[in-house]
Amino acid sequence: MSSDPACRPGRSLRLRSLLIGIGALISSLVLLLAAWVVRIEWTHLADSEAGLTRARRLQDVLRVAEMASRERGPANGVMGEDLPTPAGSLERLAQARERTDAAFDALHAQLPPGEDASRHLGDTRERLKAARAQVDRIAAKPAPQRRAGELRQAVSDMFEVIDDLAPVATRFTDEARQAAPELAGPLTAARRAADLRELAGRLGSLFTSALARRQVLGLDERLAIEHLRGRIEELRQQLQRSTSTLPATPQVAQAMALMQQRYFGDTQAFIAEQLRIGMSDGRFELDTSGFAARYVPDMDSFLLLRDALLEQALTQARAERDRAALRLSWAAAGAGLTLLLLVSVVVIVNRRVVQPLTDSTAIVSALAAGRLDQPVPQHGARDEVGDLLRALELLRQDSLERQALERERQNLIELLRDQSNTDFLTGLLNRRGFMALGGAQLPALHRRGAEIAVAVFDLDHFKLINDRHGHICGDAVLDAIGEACRQWCRRGDLVSRYGGEEFVILMPDCTVQGAWQQAERLRNGVASLRIEAPGHPAPIEVTISVGVATCRPGETDLARIISRADTALYAAKREGRNRVRVYQEPAPGERSPA
Ligand code: GH3
Ligand code: MG
Ligand code: MG
Repeated sequence: MSSDPACRPGRSLRLRSLLIGIGALISSLVLLLAAWVVRIEWTHLADSEAGLTRARRLQDVLRVAEMASRERGPANGVMGEDLPTPAGSLERLAQARERTDAAFDALHAQLPPGEDASRHLGDTRERLKAARAQVDRIAAKPAPQRRAGELRQAVSDMFEVIDDLAPVATRFTDEARQAAPELAGPLTAARRAADLRELAGRLGSLFTSALARRQVLGLDERLAIEHLRGRIEELRQQLQRSTSTLPATPQVAQAMALMQQRYFGDTQAFIAEQLRIGMSDGRFELDTSGFAARYVPDMDSFLLLRDALLEQALTQARAERDRAALRLSWAAAGAGLTLLLLVSVVVIVNRRVVQPLTDSTAIVSALAAGRLDQPVPQHGARDEVGDLLRALELLRQDSLERQALERERQNLIELLRDQSNTDFLTGLLNRRGFMALGGAQLPALHRRGAEIAVAVFDLDHFKLINDRHGHICGDAVLDAIGEACRQWCRRGDLVSRYGGEEFVILMPDCTVQGAWQQAERLRNGVASLRIEAPGHPAPIEVTISVGVATCRPGETDLARIISRADTALYAAKREGRNRVRVYQEPAPGERSPA
């Protein structure tokens, strides 16, 4: 049965390996898929972060440009005022420069050192420093010594600082667009708003010279003003177009409306009027500071729009980053949950199906091999596996019951066999048992050439004991004789109560001499007994007479040997009892006494 492959424990192990293999395969596929999704979401997140960072950098670049642009006002102021330069003007210039430097520092802090943009900004700062030194040199001269050429150069150097920032701004805009394309619209629009502020500033400064001198505008100034107005209008249209495609936030819409109303409404009319005066007689009603006071505040509407657009871009970038982070968390959590679910399924299938099947296989194998001690595990679930295990338990219980019944039957058979072969009083073999066992031993003893002897002994005058002391005392004497046999007979001897008060002993491996000595030993032993009998104060003494005969070569008829020993026993009785006699084989021709 154990050769049946279904019973081999290896099969259940293979089933578990199969389950683990399938689980591992599906887990690997899920992991691969999850890794792919997580990687995509991770890239989204990284892009969103990069977009946000670039948008912040652009915001800082535009702020540097704004501050550098604002610095031009006080710089022009000190270059326009005669010595000694008023302390207030110097103070304003110093503060403006401080603000520009702070904006530069903030931008630098955002950039990793050694990056191209960082190096470029370093160069721009050097350029600013040189431009400031030029401003300071001019301001240190008395007004009449200041030449128009060097003044224009100083102003132009300050413009160039702003122009120099444009590639860095473009670079960050492009990087932001690459990382997060949705940022391109608001960032480009914000840059246009900042450019508008710059061009508007430059437009205003073109009036400065004519205003200060209250003269008509020069031809080159008029051309430059017209050129700038054209560019401003062009930029305005571009800005309008780009903002119209953006999802409008209230802040952007408001800033846009304010810009239209203030700069392109009121201020344009004001500029047109100043241009008309500058082109006719040069009798301006305002001096430079009056002009600035009227003109500069309206330019702030560009900055408001710029900041609104930048804020829109940053809000968009932050929202996209948060969405990407959320999707990444969901993807990771989903992957984790799926894996957990898979592992749980494998564990449950193993516990509910594979393990019970493994156990069942072992139990069925054990049942088949007759080993019923292996318990069937409890399985509470009402499913097929539960039914199988319960059926196995029933089968085991059934087999156990049958095994117990069989054992009981065998015990009874043994008991009956023992009882039918045993003398109930002495516990020795009875005649039936002796004849069966002894008869069965003889052929084997002969085969190995053993000498065999038989002794028969009978209690002397036993009838007298019964008569004198009663039958119960007689039984006690018989019992004591059984004990004496056990004590004085050899280990291999077969002793029986042959009937009544007569005993027979089969002595294998025993010569006639040895048998005689054995019999003498027994006779002396019995004679020395002082038997305590129930209800009898004095011990009872008893003797036996023994007849000994040897087995003839190859003789297997036990009854005949006993019969010869019996003949010797009668001789012993005849000769006065309490003695041992050996059967003498008759001489040839003589009649056998047996
Ligand atoms: P002898 O020396 O010639 O053998 O004399 P005996 O009295 O021993 O022989 P006899 O054959 O006359 O008597 C045997 C007695 O043994 C008769 C019988 O009552 C008694 N006997 C036989 N079996 C039992 C038994 O199981 N218990 C008791 N108490 N007595 C028994
Ligand atoms: Mg007798
Ligand atoms: Mg007798």
